[in-house]
Amino acid sequence: MTFEDLKLIPPILKALKDVDYITPTDIQASAIPLALRKEDVIGSAQTGTGKTAAFAIPILQHLATSNQHNKGNRNIKALVVTPTRELAIQIGESFSEYGKYTHLRNTVIFGGVSQGSQTSALRDGVDILVATPGRLLDLMNQGFISLEHIQYFVLDEADRMLDMGFIHDIKKIIAKLPRQRQSLFFSATMPKSIVELSRQILKNPKKVAVNPVSSTAETIQQYLYTTNKASKNDLLLHILQDPEMD
Ligand code: AMP
Repeated sequence: MTFEDLKLIPPILKALKDVDYITPTDIQASAIPLALRKEDVIGSAQTGTGKTAAFAIPILQHLATSNQHNKGNRNIKALVVTPTRELAIQIGESFSEYGKYTHLRNTVIFGGVSQGSQTSALRDGVDILVATPGRLLDLMNQGFISLEHIQYFVLDEADRMLDMGFIHDIKKIIAKLPRQRQSLFFSATMPKSIVELSRQILKNPKKVAVNPVSSTAETIQQYLYTTNKASKNDLLLHILQDPEMD
């Protein structure tokens, strides 16, 4: 399968060529067609599987073909919430890369820095907002951000979000989203608390799963040696000294 087979619009295909993406990753091949049909999606996928493009490409395509990004209508139409500043920046860069021929604008907001440049980007108008939960709520409370025009919502790395104690922030954000929307939900693991959270966000979601958690890279061969704690170090040294081992 190639990206051409996914019925993507020419401006997105051209941008993907620029970054040398030819074959969709597993999560992209399964999630992009569903998301293009406006289904809600729950994906278990870790960072490194290509999940950013799996949600960014359909959102860009929906917005680019809806003509709603014309001047005078730069409301925030897509919101991606992710736990850390690093992830937020990477996701923003991905939207810019894949969307560079679409005229859609994105901006990234996160805490720990002064809000001036973030609020002035918001004032100029953006179509897609990538945010960490705390700063998002903060700027919503200050009146810089309204979620009333959101059509596409992504919750990224949901399990990490809960581990970092963002559950109350997430619930406050969800409460402000329009009911009529498409939601995409990604988490590396799916414990009960995450499944419950997903139920509050998604409607009849389609499941996509790739690379089960803790799967090993295919190039690595694994062996099991039964040992005890006292001899573990010696055994490890013995194995590492084996010239056959590369
Ligand atoms: P992610 O899991 O979204 O953080 O992506 C992991 C890395 O894979 C990023 O560096 C992407 O640029 C890259 N990537 C994502 N999709 C593809 C693809 N279809 N072909 C080649 N590289 C990709």
